[in-house]
Amino acid sequence: MPLLVMKFGGTSVADLARIKNAAQKVKKEVERGYDVIVIVSAMSGKTNELVGWVEQTSPMFDAREYDAVVASGENITAGLMALTLQEMDIPARSWQGWQVPINTTSAHSAARFVDIPRGNLDAKFAEGFRVAVVAGFQGVSPEGRITTLGRGGSDTTAVAFAAAFDAERCDIYTDVDGIYTTDPRITSRAKKLDRIAFEEMLELASLGAKVLQTRSVELAMRYNVRLRVLSSFEDTDENSGTLVCAEDEIMESKVVSGVAHSREEAKITLFTIEDRPGVASAIFGPLADAGINVDMIVQNISEKDYDEAHPGAVTDMTFSCPINQVARAKKALEDAKAADLIRYDELIIDEDVAKVSVVGIGMRSHAGVAAKMFRALSAEGVNIKVIGTSEIKISVLIDRKYTELAVQALHDAFELDKA
Ligand code: ADP
Ligand code: ASP
Ligand code: MG
Repeated sequence: MPLLVMKFGGTSVADLARIKNAAQKVKKEVERGYDVIVIVSAMSGKTNELVGWVEQTSPMFDAREYDAVVASGENITAGLMALTLQEMDIPARSWQGWQVPINTTSAHSAARFVDIPRGNLDAKFAEGFRVAVVAGFQGVSPEGRITTLGRGGSDTTAVAFAAAFDAERCDIYTDVDGIYTTDPRITSRAKKLDRIAFEEMLELASLGAKVLQTRSVELAMRYNVRLRVLSSFEDTDENSGTLVCAEDEIMESKVVSGVAHSREEAKITLFTIEDRPGVASAIFGPLADAGINVDMIVQNISEKDYDEAHPGAVTDMTFSCPINQVARAKKALEDAKAADLIRYDELIIDEDVAKVSVVGIGMRSHAGVAAKMFRALSAEGVNIKVIGTSEIKISVLIDRKYTELAVQALHDAFELDKA
């Protein structure tokens, strides 16, 4: 029988009524002749509550126990969804990660898939079960411990199952009716896209658009999974929502297709460092060892003989990283300074920044995107602190209080409301 993967996020399974609503959608697909693998998230708010409990109990927690606690939210919804389907006379059962098994690496709280053997689920489908309800976000390590895949990881579970089971499609049901030109909660002018290229969605996700976990888009692109985002609260059919697909499946592509933002950024400056070979390596080596995800980097042009205390060339180095890694980054740099591996006069930490980015594959062949972006921000009086670019994106770091304003201004400047 043809097979579909249907994933329901936290707000779509937030209470028993919503679980029932989601189950109705599953029932429709079963009646159309599909076997279905349903991937469920924890009820909305549950994972945050569990994370809070772990942090209150043990601030420097053992990551294996963190995963044991935090993965449990999905177990509840998997069982409840299976029961709801059974009440509708659909042969269904729940599966926790270790029961499938979903084999992952042992990188707790950021585990990656190793493989998902099909045998157990296939045997149940062969027995006449029509739905396998799988707890998202979790797996099992080679050591036999429960792992989790990072926040938002149920999206990735869904895509991994779609790839492993050759699903016809992977449908991500959520609280918006598709992927928009920007977060529809920021501006009502955001427009829903019918299609978006894998590369663009990958950038948008990694730059803060929470609608899909970055890793899920990466996997879908690698295994050519037909990935769709659609609403769990509206009537939907085969044409609903937004399809994430290969670039050549998109007719007209715009220079800029979307604007993303992330408020979870921080900026760290090492003030007055020596300007000589090996200094960048001495700074970013310890940061890498501490597991800091350094994002944007700028180094000033060097200044000769800054003062008597600083003969030779000096400069400043600035980088950005996730705000929840600031304490660890600070410690890594201070330790490196104490061990005389690096020298700086001052460490300046700015935790009031946000990153706003424009993304589009059309940028590859169009000049002037950066100039237009900077003009739009300057017209609103938004100061740019750091700039970063790649082939299909331009990002700026700005004061966090201007996030909405900047997103709106860029959305207008690139006429995304006319999508
Ligand atoms: P779920 O709990 O279903 O996984 P998420 O909260 O993780 O849902 O993702 C859906 C949210 O993503 C939406 O409510 C929306 O606010 C946000 N979002 C951010 N950027 C976009 C975008 N470009 N298009 C659609 N939604 C977006
Ligand atoms: N429940 C997990 C989270 O909130 C995973 C997910 O919903 O995708 O991050
Ligand atoms: Mg999500």
